[in-house]
Formats: sequence, C-alpha cells, structure tokens
Amino acid sequence: MRTRRSALALMAGAASLALTLSACGQNSKGGSKEDKGSAKGGTIGIAMPTKSSERWIADGNNVVKNLKAKGYKTKLVYGEDDPDQQVSQIENLITQGVKGLIVAAIDNKSLNNVLQQAADAKIPVIAYDRLILGTKNVDYYASFDNTKVGELQASYIVDKLGLKDGKGPFNIELFAGSNDDNNTKYFFNGAMSVLQPYIDKKKLVVKSGQTKLTQVTTLRWDGATAQKRMEDILTSTYGSAKVDAVLSPYDGISIGVLAALKSDGYGSSSKPLPVITGQDAELASVKSIIAGQQTQTVYKDTRKLADVASSMVDDVLNGKKPEVNDTKTYDNGTKVVPAMLLQPVSVDKTNYTKELVDTGYYKASELQ
Ligand code: BGC
Repeated sequence: MRTRRSALALMAGAASLALTLSACGQNSKGGSKEDKGSAKGGTIGIAMPTKSSERWIADGNNVVKNLKAKGYKTKLVYGEDDPDQQVSQIENLITQGVKGLIVAAIDNKSLNNVLQQAADAKIPVIAYDRLILGTKNVDYYASFDNTKVGELQASYIVDKLGLKDGKGPFNIELFAGSNDDNNTKYFFNGAMSVLQPYIDKKKLVVKSGQTKLTQVTTLRWDGATAQKRMEDILTSTYGSAKVDAVLSPYDGISIGVLAALKSDGYGSSSKPLPVITGQDAELASVKSIIAGQQTQTVYKDTRKLADVASSMVDDVLNGKKPEVNDTKTYDNGTKVVPAMLLQPVSVDKTNYTKELVDTGYYKASELQ
C-alpha cells in the first residue's frame, strides 16, 4: 500500500514538474516559449473561410495591412468553404514556420488536431470572428457582439412593422446561418429573444411552421440554398397570403431570398417586398437597400476587427496581455475564451451614408 502510494506521489511529482516546465514555456525539445526575439519580422498565418463573400476578402486584406504595419510578414489563405482544405492549409502554415495564427474557421469543430500541432509548435492562435470549439488551443477570440447582431435584425423588423404600436398580425419567415458556424446560434438566439414574444402573442406568424434553429439553418451560408428554401416555402404555404418580413442573418442569404420573392411576383405596389434584414453591409446589399429592395443590414467594420486580431497576436508574441472585454460569454466547450467584442451597427436607407460613406468603408462612387 505504502509503496503504491509513494509511486503515485512520485508520478504526481513528475506530472507537476512537467506542468511547471510547460508553464515556464519549456517545450519537449528544450526550446522556450518566451524565445520570441525572432517574432517581429516573422510570418503570421491567416486562414480565412472563403473568397465568395466580400467581407472575408476585406478581412484578409485588412489583417495583412495591420500586421505589415507592425513589422510582420504574412501568409493569407482562403479555404473556399471546405473544412478539409482549411485544415491542410493550416498544417502547411505550421510547417512553414509561422509565428502566430489568425483563423476564421469554416467548421468550428474540425480544427482540433491541427491546432494541437500549432500548440506543440508553441504557435499562439487567435480565433477570428468565429469561435473554434472543443479545444484548449485557442488563445483569444476577436469578434463582434454576435447576440447583438441578431437583436438588431429582429428589432428592425419589430420597428418597421409597427409591432410595438400593436399592429399585426404579420407573416414572417426565419433564416439562420450555417450550422457548423458557432456564430449562427448567437445570431438566431439574439433575434428570437426579440421576436418570440410577438410569435407567442400571434402578432407574428411563421406560416411555414419552421421556427427551430435546426429547421432554418443554411449550410455554408449559401445564397442559392436559401433561395431554394424560400421558393419551397412560398409554393407550399403561401398561396394568396403574403410574407411581411424575413429574418435573414447575412446579405448573401438576403439576396437569395429576394430572388425567390421576385420570381414569385413580389416587388410591385400590389405585392410589396417584405422587410428583409441582412448582415455585413456587402456592396450588392447596400446597393439593394438604396434601391429599396433589401431593407436593412448589420454593418461590422472589418477594419476594426482586423486591428483587434492583429494586436492580439502581436501582444501575445511580445508577452503582453491583449485587451479583452468579455471573459464569460464564449465557452468553447473546453474553456471560456477571452474575447474582444466590437459593436455591430444597424444600417438602412436612412443612415448608410453616415455609417458607410462618411467612415470611409465605401466610396460614394462605389454605391452608384
Ligand atoms: C460572420 C458573418 C457572416 C457569415 C457568413 C459569420 O460567421 O460573423 O459576418 O455574414 O459568417 O460569411
């Protein structure tokens, strides 16, 4: 008994020594985590999800610009919405010896193995915009207040329909983002916290009956998938009834929904387009808002997000603690990831000039 206990004590001692060593930044090869002298001038790997949406192109370019200004080299890759491709891109970045990684995940759960490789190589990882789940190997999270995004979309619908003044009932259909994107449930839950009371009072009616997140997601945020779902809903459930509002979580989905509505005859004075929300203030959608088709979008300044993420990686590499403003919300299943959350802004016809042109996000000429 005694022998077993002392063997256990010995093992515990060894484990705690290993822990102490790793806390000091020693890796198994005897290298040191604090050995950051070469970080400046080193390369930061940036893995973005897709070029099929403008926002990610802007994000990538802005991160590159910020890191270059801080003295780093960069390698920017896009995974074209294919989780396997993103994994192998990150593996390559690690092999190429990047000093830090900034990752906007395609699939929130497929990166665990590759991030373990990053951790083994002492490469800090910043989750960009989308949280990476189920791994301790994500150091910080830079994003927007994602719950607020959904609240802004839903509040816009409530205001526009005059629900607070007792108007209604109105017909609404609900769309959500990709089910493998951690943001999706934050957007949807934020929106539903505002819409549910009106659904309960029957002031908002979801004629399709599709109200659960699992029924309304859109794989990879694909506009064509959303268009098809809207067409199916219009054909199967609407008949002579009209849709008054569509909760759309993203501009690309809004454009798909609009296409379905237009081919069903919406957009005339006898059959006006519903209130339709969006996200990202993408050029096509801002133009659509100006033309009176899409109604609203949520603007998230990717310049600011890129700045936050770049500063985070720079701070970590220089042994400084990055600034965060949320240490509670983003539990990835393994740990709560300290986050810096920026504020999204609701944009429609009335304020796009102030928010998008005056701030230099778009040139007035781009919106013509
Ligand atoms: C981002 C949104 C974007 C969506 C589709 C989400 O993770 O937060 O800004 O609209 O992905 O690209």
